Amino acid sequence: MPQLYKQQSIKIYNSLSGQKEAFTPINDGYVGMYVCGPTVYSNVHLGNVRTFMSFDTIFRYLKHLGYKVRYVRNITDAGHLENDADEGEDRIAKKARLEQIEPMEVVQRYTVDFHNILNKFNFLPPSIEPTATGHIIEQIELIKTIIDNGFAYEVNGSVYFDVLKFNKTNNYGKLSKRNVEDLIHNTRELDGQSDKKNPQDFALWKKAEPQHIMRWPSPWSDGFPGWHLECTAMSTKYLGEHFDIHGGGMDLKFPHHECEIAQAEACNHQSPVNYWMHANMLIMNGKKMAKSTGNFILPEEIFTGDNPHITQAYSAGVARFFMLQAHYRSVLDFTNNGLLASEKGFNRLMDAIADLDNLKTNETSSVNITDWKQKCYDAMNDDFNTPILIANLFEAVKVINQIKDNKATISKTDLDLLKTTINTFTFDVLGLVSGSANEAGEGKLSGAVELLIQLRQEARANKDFALSDKIRDELAAVGIQLNDGKDGTTFSTN
Ligand code: AMP
Ligand code: ZN
Repeated sequence: MPQLYKQQSIKIYNSLSGQKEAFTPINDGYVGMYVCGPTVYSNVHLGNVRTFMSFDTIFRYLKHLGYKVRYVRNITDAGHLENDADEGEDRIAKKARLEQIEPMEVVQRYTVDFHNILNKFNFLPPSIEPTATGHIIEQIELIKTIIDNGFAYEVNGSVYFDVLKFNKTNNYGKLSKRNVEDLIHNTRELDGQSDKKNPQDFALWKKAEPQHIMRWPSPWSDGFPGWHLECTAMSTKYLGEHFDIHGGGMDLKFPHHECEIAQAEACNHQSPVNYWMHANMLIMNGKKMAKSTGNFILPEEIFTGDNPHITQAYSAGVARFFMLQAHYRSVLDFTNNGLLASEKGFNRLMDAIADLDNLKTNETSSVNITDWKQKCYDAMNDDFNTPILIANLFEAVKVINQIKDNKATISKTDLDLLKTTINTFTFDVLGLVSGSANEAGEGKLSGAVELLIQLRQEARANKDFALSDKIRDELAAVGIQLNDGKDGTTFSTN
């Protein structure tokens, strides 16, 4: 991969400074990026998908520029309590109790669902996908260090981070721009939290109640780690004490990311992350899409059209295009009309790309493809501005149609440059797929079955009936029926 990053300089909006800043990685040519992953206690909704898609697109662009990116996205499979504070039941344990299954069955089911959905949207897998339960030892070690450094205390088998003490030497609230004094007044004193010295302290380790099924031994009690700790443990382990980019949804800025900063500083005496990036919310009916309020739509419902908010099914490519038409830092309103418009735009872009192979070339170009290409880079360099990039791709669509209508000319060299650039940005950087991943999968299946039908015909022609029967029966065993008719053999699946 050419080192394009030497010619293209990126600016990233850093939530910490509230400004766009020139991006300089800690190690030249390498980028370490950590993104908070899902809590795997239910199916991901389209809002979750949007946040992960924003970072998938950022990952894709960084790779395209030639950076060697280590992208770590965790799976939260323990420690995330019902209401984000230190109270209530563990979300996964609760689901396991309600369904009378093992917590790890809950984790497995929804991790598989998460991967399936992300595959349909053509996500690239992260470099490492660590789990909270796989890093309990690392979390216990962090707590020991935080206690040794004087920033945490133990009460009745639980360990809490001492926010006020930390704030005397460090700045708690610098990411979310909250003042620790205001936090004292705004934090409710909750039942069962009387162990804490101060209400704004947060749990690093919780002693498990007898009925709590997810528990591990520790120096303090049989218990489980606080939710914020896992991300500090896993990001430090795989990216080091100081790394380039940390991302997540806007709603994680406080308390989750604020607490991550405090934990890391309490351990390592340095700020852990250079660029904090926060993706904005997908909303529906004017409210944040969220599982807890019932105001959500599942990706599967988009693919089937089976939801009252939409009038038809949409492919994963169209849904991805719809989401990337908004900048990751803008709120995006989910509407059927928006999706319909995106479908039209998406098809226009795909048609134009298909037309590229049939364009006639000329001695000279009446269009400037080199400038246009740089405009595509400029859009992505400016804090990953995908809507501006898409507007530029439509500039190219206009040019392609003009050339088709003999209203513009293009040289062979420029046509090659246009083809490579539009393909790169559409498929590699934006990660769009023509048709849905399902459709693509079906296409491959039918190609493979057609081949088997042909082999069966050849076997029959050679009077090798053992082989022809074997092909028919083995296909039937995996749910594919061959139907012999007078016009040849077709197949159906059940
Ligand atoms: P969770 O599994 O609840 O930890 O959420 C996984 C990710 O989805 C987090 O980064 C959240 O910030 C993000 N998220 C949750 N709701 C939405 C939404 N409506 N729009 C965009 N991102 C969301
Ligand atoms: Zn996290």
